[in-house]
Amino acid sequence: MKNKFFNSLVEQLEQIPSIGKKSANKIAYTLALENKVLALNIAHCIENAVCNIQQCEICGGLAEDKTCYICDDFSRLYNSALCIVSSPKDIFTIEETNTFNGSYLVVNDVKKADFDMIIANIRLYNKKEIIFAFTPSLVSDTMILYIEDKLQNENLVFSKIAHGVPTGVGLDNIDKLSLQKAMESRIKI
Ligand SMILES: [Zn+2]
Repeated sequence: MKNKFFNSLVEQLEQIPSIGKKSANKIAYTLALENKVLALNIAHCIENAVCNIQQCEICGGLAEDKTCYICDDFSRLYNSALCIVSSPKDIFTIEETNTFNGSYLVVNDVKKADFDMIIANIRLYNKKEIIFAFTPSLVSDTMILYIEDKLQNENLVFSKIAHGVPTGVGLDNIDKLSLQKAMESRIKI
């Protein structure tokens, strides 16, 4: 097989979301031939990330320990607001807007979510407000209804981000300003 190492690198790079064949070729060329130091540094970073990053035991977000830096901050963990997102990467997106001082919870599959645990944590951390920061869609509206139903006896105020967030567009693809506005002008539901 011609250039088997190069081709398998291209094949693997192509598996990364948003990298197509053309970019994969370009990156592989850079890593394998033009900048071997960068390539080895990246390999090292990937190994460290894979070995050390896990989901936070409290919120499900990205953590390099048992819990993440947000849950480690008691002023945030015991803040009355809990923001529910569908993916750990949405936490980063919201954090970048600097609009939220509460803590998060990742719920990506309502059917598999452990609501006994979620309710126990809501009581433990004294949560009063639940903010849903999902990508607006029919599926997420159904998820919101489902979660609200499960939490209905907890005396909570529910709201969701809406304003300026286009339907069907992932949170990580929304510009910072729109998301900032969406967090600030969240609507009660
Ligand atoms: Zn956490």
